[in-house]
Amino acid sequence: MTNCIKCKQPITETNRIGRSKSYCSTACRRAAGLEIQRINGRLIKLEDLLQNIRLGMGFVHDKERKEKGFLAEIERQENRLKELFAGTDD
Ligand SMILES: [Zn+2]
Repeated sequence: MTNCIKCKQPITETNRIGRSKSYCSTACRRAAGLEIQRINGRLIKLEDLLQNIRLGMGFVHDKERKEKGFLAEIERQENRLKELFAGTDD
């Protein structure tokens, strides 16, 4: 038994859409598509900010700690993106 990538509800024979094993409904599949767009926008901003820190634009207090924080957040967002993309090819 797998759970919907979007709402985490179990996917049953009755709520399965087509042959999809990843989403319980068309609504969830569409919501996941929008989440992918939002995450992408977030990643663009995070990477810009990280680059600014790395290039030393202006004085950055506690540069190393901030860089680590950005990298951790980028990784988190990318993992969610991968999770959502895993559901787009079935
Ligand atoms: Zn769902």
